[in-house]
Amino acid sequence: MGEHAAQVVDKQALRAKYAEERDKRLRADGSAQYRRLETEFSDLATDPYTPRVEREPVTDHVTFAFIGGGFAGLVVGARLKDAGIDDVRILEKGGDFGGTWYWNRYPGAQCDTASMIYMPLLEETGHMPTEKYAHAPEIREHCSRIGKQYGLYDNALFHTQVSDLEWDDARKVWIVRTDRGDEFTAKYVGMGTGPLHVAKLPGLPGIENFKGKAFHTSRWDYAYTGGNPEGAPLSKLADKRVAIIGTGATAVQCVPHLARDAKELLVFQRTPSSVDVRNNKPLEREWFDGVAEPGWQKKWQENFVGNLAGGFAAEDLVQDGWTDLGHRIRKEIMNLPPEERTPANVMAAYEDADNQKMSEIRARAEAIVGGEAGKKLQAWYRQLCKRPCFHDEYLQAYNEPGCRLVDTDGKGVERITEKGVVANGVEYEVDCIIYASGFEVGTEYASRAGFQVTGRDGETLSQHWDGGMKTLHGLHMHGFPNAFMVQPTQAANMIANVPHNIVDHADTIAAVVSEAERRGAQTVEASAEAEKAWVDLLLTGLGARLGDTGCTPGYYNNEGEGFGEAAKYSVGHPAGAMGYFNHIDAWRKSGEYKGLEFA
Ligand code: NDP
Repeated sequence: MGEHAAQVVDKQALRAKYAEERDKRLRADGSAQYRRLETEFSDLATDPYTPRVEREPVTDHVTFAFIGGGFAGLVVGARLKDAGIDDVRILEKGGDFGGTWYWNRYPGAQCDTASMIYMPLLEETGHMPTEKYAHAPEIREHCSRIGKQYGLYDNALFHTQVSDLEWDDARKVWIVRTDRGDEFTAKYVGMGTGPLHVAKLPGLPGIENFKGKAFHTSRWDYAYTGGNPEGAPLSKLADKRVAIIGTGATAVQCVPHLARDAKELLVFQRTPSSVDVRNNKPLEREWFDGVAEPGWQKKWQENFVGNLAGGFAAEDLVQDGWTDLGHRIRKEIMNLPPEERTPANVMAAYEDADNQKMSEIRARAEAIVGGEAGKKLQAWYRQLCKRPCFHDEYLQAYNEPGCRLVDTDGKGVERITEKGVVANGVEYEVDCIIYASGFEVGTEYASRAGFQVTGRDGETLSQHWDGGMKTLHGLHMHGFPNAFMVQPTQAANMIANVPHNIVDHADTIAAVVSEAERRGAQTVEASAEAEKAWVDLLLTGLGARLGDTGCTPGYYNNEGEGFGEAAKYSVGHPAGAMGYFNHIDAWRKSGEYKGLEFA
């Protein structure tokens, strides 16, 4: 029996092990196991970072209203200002710009995608990231920098939640209503509410009864813990026994800080994350000045896309964990004789590359932590079944004397009592419970956004998307004139670097709005035919990668239940991210705006 046969046996054993670990975690209640922080635990959902200031309702008219003050709102606002649209109003439920970076101020918060490609408008603002992977305070400050540079603060409404968006066809305007009693009109609206903005808690029995301190990681209470988002010691935890529930990308980043500073830290784990090397480093001015020639950021972003998509780009500027996987897949495929590069063999090569990578990641956990914990920290699933993590202090944290892993063998925490957390039938008394339990994903748009969008003829967005998303270019919807959706799906679907999608959509929005204004049009809208043709084109692709029910449960696959029929519409351009970017670039440059109707 040769080496090849031995690999096949391993592969099958591994598949069986992955399936066994997945099955342990499947639950009858699926996504219903969670509860919303904002609606069900409003006391825990209060903004701890900025006091809410009362103000009079707004009843005026603006040219462009944008919902969401994260990267999407900022970048669209910036591009519109550059295009000469002065009255842009951003509405944001947080107390300042930043979106996810406004809320997530937990210690150690850091970007998992390289700053050079992740932080938008670096060239326009002249900002040089200080590290290969910037920490959250720098990213939040960058949001503020964009807001100030483009005058977006002037007209912004913070601590304001949109409650309703309604198209008034007689006046050809959108009516924007909010929880502050605002009712104003806008010629155009944009929506960039983000995929991960509704914080969730596990629906554990007794969760309301806990008498100690509890908070979600996106509402970090520094008044209780001491320290700050910059990483100063969490000095007030020195005499506290702390529990953290969850071991996803957020916990991976804050556990090292808690392990360092709390008297005792108990980490409750249901499914381990895959934690690969981080290799963060400071960026040097001299190096940066050498690479930052005009157009550098777009070049870097496109190079990243090229390296992900099978790793076929000539050079790898970013060199991170995402591009590494791309290179490994390419290597496996290149090992095949050209005539054997069939779709099935390519998928098998991908599996081999993945198995190799995951074996290394599991070995790393055991090498760093050792013992029983080192075994329990090993992830048994394909790397992209769950959000891959990269960190150089997380596993090491389990070697701190006060830090203890409480693995629940896939079952999770059972309940909360007045005094603490029950897992594996044992009650662990603690002073503080930190919920690193994530955010709602994949639920119906209007429900997650918190507002309904009613277009022409009274059709709502929920009705329009009943059975699956329908757009032209991921951006325009037929029946919703002068409205733009800023998000990656049905466009480039570039998940490893979301801002790349956003900047591109911002360019399109600025171009389309400028064209509408130049033509003196009252409305611009995708035709029904163009929307249908676009969706038909999308469906010719390989299909959705996320949502695989063969994977261990998580938000990527709707807790193992998948997303049903609608999932087939959650795809990108069939020619991949670069296929989309090239298509849309040519579409913009043609000046024809094919598929849009100006009236
Ligand atoms: P996740 O949804 O990834 O993690 C939630 C965690 O809570 C999981 O480990 C889950 O376990 C656990 N959990 C839920 N219920 C229970 C229970 N009853 N008992 C024990 N554990 C439980 O949320 P995160 O906030 O970590 O991350 C969300 C996303 O935000 C990331 O995937 C990423 O996209 C983004 N993010 C990005 C970062 C970056 O770029 N820098 C940093 C942090 C987050 P299980 O896995 O078994 O469901």
